Amino acid sequence: MFRPLSPVPDHPTLEAEILAWWEDHAIFEQLRQRNRGGPVWSFVDGPVTANKTLGVHTAWGRTLKDVFQRYKALRGFDQRYQNGFDCQGLWIEVGVERELGLNSKREIEQYGLAEFARKCREKVAWSAEELIRGSKRLGQWMDWGNDYYTFSDTNIEYIWRFLKLVHERGWLYRGHRSTEWCPRCGTSISAHELVGSYEERIDPSLFVRFPLLDRTGQSLTIWTTTPWTLPANVAAAVHPDEEYGRKEDGEWVAVKRYPDETFVERRRGSELIGWRYEGPFDHLPAAKDIEHRVIGWDEVSMDEGTGLVHIAPGCGSEDFELSRVHDLPVVTPVDEAGRFYDRFGWLHGLSTSESAEQIAADLAERGRLVAAGDYAHRYPFCWRCNTPLIFRIADDWFIRVDEVRPRLLHANATIEWTPAYFGKRMDDWLRNMGDWNISRRRYFGLPLPIYPCTCGQVTLVGSRAELEELATAGMDQLEELHRPWIDAVEIRCPACGTEGVRRIPEIGDVWLDAGIVPFSTLGWQNPKWIEGGYGNGAAEGLTGADLPDHGYWETWFPAHWVSEMREQIRLWFYSQLFMSVCLVDRSPFRSVLGYEKMLDEHGRPMHGSWGNLIPAEEAFERMGADVMRWQYCAQPPDRDLLFGYGPAHEIKRKLLTFWNSIGFLVTYGNIEGFRPTFTDLAAGPLGIELRPLDRWLVARTEQLVTDTTTALEDQFTHRVIAAFEAFVDDLSNWYIRRSRRRFYAFDEAAFRTLWYALVTGLRVISPVMPFVSDHLWRNRVADACEGAPESVFLADWPEVGQPDERLLAEIAEVRRIVELGREARGTAGVKLRQPLRRVYVRGARLAREHADEIAEELRVDEVGFDQGPVARVQLLPNLRVLGPRLGKKMPEVKAALQRGEAEEIGDGHLRVAGEELGPDDVLRGERVEIAGWAIADDIALSVAIDTEIDPELELRGRVYDLIHTVNTMRKDAGLQLTDRIVLILPDGDDLLHHQDWIKAETLATRIEPGEALAIAKA
Ligand SMILES: [Zn+2]
Ligand SMILES: [Zn+2]
Repeated sequence: MFRPLSPVPDHPTLEAEILAWWEDHAIFEQLRQRNRGGPVWSFVDGPVTANKTLGVHTAWGRTLKDVFQRYKALRGFDQRYQNGFDCQGLWIEVGVERELGLNSKREIEQYGLAEFARKCREKVAWSAEELIRGSKRLGQWMDWGNDYYTFSDTNIEYIWRFLKLVHERGWLYRGHRSTEWCPRCGTSISAHELVGSYEERIDPSLFVRFPLLDRTGQSLTIWTTTPWTLPANVAAAVHPDEEYGRKEDGEWVAVKRYPDETFVERRRGSELIGWRYEGPFDHLPAAKDIEHRVIGWDEVSMDEGTGLVHIAPGCGSEDFELSRVHDLPVVTPVDEAGRFYDRFGWLHGLSTSESAEQIAADLAERGRLVAAGDYAHRYPFCWRCNTPLIFRIADDWFIRVDEVRPRLLHANATIEWTPAYFGKRMDDWLRNMGDWNISRRRYFGLPLPIYPCTCGQVTLVGSRAELEELATAGMDQLEELHRPWIDAVEIRCPACGTEGVRRIPEIGDVWLDAGIVPFSTLGWQNPKWIEGGYGNGAAEGLTGADLPDHGYWETWFPAHWVSEMREQIRLWFYSQLFMSVCLVDRSPFRSVLGYEKMLDEHGRPMHGSWGNLIPAEEAFERMGADVMRWQYCAQPPDRDLLFGYGPAHEIKRKLLTFWNSIGFLVTYGNIEGFRPTFTDLAAGPLGIELRPLDRWLVARTEQLVTDTTTALEDQFTHRVIAAFEAFVDDLSNWYIRRSRRRFYAFDEAAFRTLWYALVTGLRVISPVMPFVSDHLWRNRVADACEGAPESVFLADWPEVGQPDERLLAEIAEVRRIVELGREARGTAGVKLRQPLRRVYVRGARLAREHADEIAEELRVDEVGFDQGPVARVQLLPNLRVLGPRLGKKMPEVKAALQRGEAEEIGDGHLRVAGEELGPDDVLRGERVEIAGWAIADDIALSVAIDTEIDPELELRGRVYDLIHTVNTMRKDAGLQLTDRIVLILPDGDDLLHHQDWIKAETLATRIEPGEALAIAKA
């Protein structure tokens, strides 16, 4: 007996049961055990930032990772299943700062770095637990508890080793340059972190007058949207080849920018170069000794502003470059927190945004402001704390990329990217990226192992052991490789022997932490296997992950597969490619599955404050993990996913068709005592005569396996879903509907065929929907037949032969004809229960032998091929073209077209009234109605149904109506499917002509006359 199926799946309950059962029966461990020693499939997990609970965005990527790992496991591949956590750097710090109510770096320092580091670790530990819990609930199978943490000492040491090597090659340098800077976080931000961080913002737009020193009464007019940079002004730039003019009021501007203006004097830009002017804030101490002058610059735009550009080398990267070319002074107006230094007088302590209004007011008061307004533009924001970024000159540490760039491009060419355009984006990034800014002025992160000595020697420490060797103080208190403990370690300079050399205070870019993972977690160049050896430093007590030896690395590197969202092209995909090319000169992964963004179901980004963010917990409860997973998998990776309850509802409806099909088998299987055999799953039912429809379902099932296997090998889960949906439709709306009667009277071939098809469907969808699949497997396979493994995941991926393509194509055509026939009936308003005389089909190549099925499905007495009326549209002459050409013959051609007298002569050409007309000569109008017929067609097929209903057809139609009504009454009366009835029909009803038919269809033992229609249990 099969365990009966509930009418609809209750996902949350069913999923909780399966999770507990997987745990109790150690299904995942059994699976790993089975595959141990099998072929290797290496997946390296991109670390998730451990500062939050699981969200529906993260669940998308986790689902894809799980689907492919489950699929590969079903195919017998040995896998690592190691999950990773990103645990240090700004993301973690910003969250902890918020929780502690700290608002600046000064406050963190007052709070104490040791305590701050402990709080950061606590946050990571909390988040890791939450993420593991959520991921388990999602159904993700990983080696939980043996996760890698990027803040472990092992991970840090591997990055040290990398940096040392980069230094030995001469690629590491300290740069003095302008960078994007977050004033709240007090650190520079590197170019790859700016991806997607631009937002619309309104800034002040100021036109400011710079009086010329040697031309009394004349001045330059410049335009700026960053008033805070004006106190740092040192020059004004003109385009040397553009024309500038002096207006009557003495203001110099570019002529092109003011086309309606009258100018009293005109000069080339090159003639203005060298003119001296009075700066906007010369009275402040910081600016008083600066000589301001006009310089030439080819990049001055004639698209906005005045054509004269204010230059402040301390506040912008292009300005800074210009200062080197023209030997301009560099004035840095604001400190790390974005506040004015005290040399700026009354501005001292103001932030860049606070100062804007006051600067404008001050300029106005002094008669320097020409005009002021608002300006909307795209502006970069800090992606961790959402503060508007500024430009600042700072000393940062960089890795030079020029030498490694060609090798990166070469390595990228070996990677198989899905979707393919992601590879192109990586290529573009590699060609255009600048040097890698790796230093951040923060606290809880990778300590950069850089020890500069006063003698000029820069020592890079490559490991903890090296540090111990060089250390002269501080080793005894070194709890872990983090600040503040690492800062207390002093070393001896290997070049000059000076003692007390200290580390620079900066920490590293987080992408170094994640980029080293293919080395640090796989034991690259590690001499011996250390059990539990990854759980050291801050990671101690959080993980039992081993630190493998180099042999292990040889086996598992490079990864066969990695998968993350698109923004990771410039982040994780980039950083691990970069580090890997530096270390071993090849890509750390062979293939990538990337995917686009997630939005809400209406296409808007999800935001907590907009009320459209769906918490994962809520999604688990309201849709269920399987339905979420289906939604993720149904998404082509090159388009944004519109996630929500609306699509989930639609998925549940589709899933219910499959569920009901299994319910059908279970119900009748139990009534008829069907006993499935496990061996039927190997190749379909053997040793029994199958009907053509059974053979078709076997072929259709084989096609499903072939299609889903190819889709998964191509990394396209949406094709798995599409194949499964089409299969379920064929199974339910063709096979079961056409075979129903065979299940009412035990037909073994039908039962075995359907069971084979349903269970195979379960198997191929199991990576996507593991809960429903195992729920159904347990009670309809494992418990029902001997020799079956207890879980679908212990049953391997199905293997099938070549499906019978000819048979599949035949039935596909039959189904298409039936669909068109139904469409034709629908347009004529004839309901499906009403029998009709005939249908004519044109264009069918394969369906001729299935005339009986077509007749039954369309409820017609006769099916004819290549005869009957053809769908025709009204053809009209294109007067504009034909009028001039045909002249007087026009009316004759028009009349012939109206009568439909047009002969097709190929290529869309027609012969009409002796004239040849091309496709552009005629216009296609409305479809021509043909009395008594309804026609539907597509490119290949045309189906015409005779819609005339004579009295005999009308009577049969009413018999069908009666049968339908009686069967509804049976259901309403709660009768079993096998219960017999007595049917009472109103006296003298002409339907009694068909009483045998009615009895058979309603399971009536007899029909009695009566007042009104009624049934009674016999
Ligand atoms: Zn910030
Ligand atoms: Zn030295």
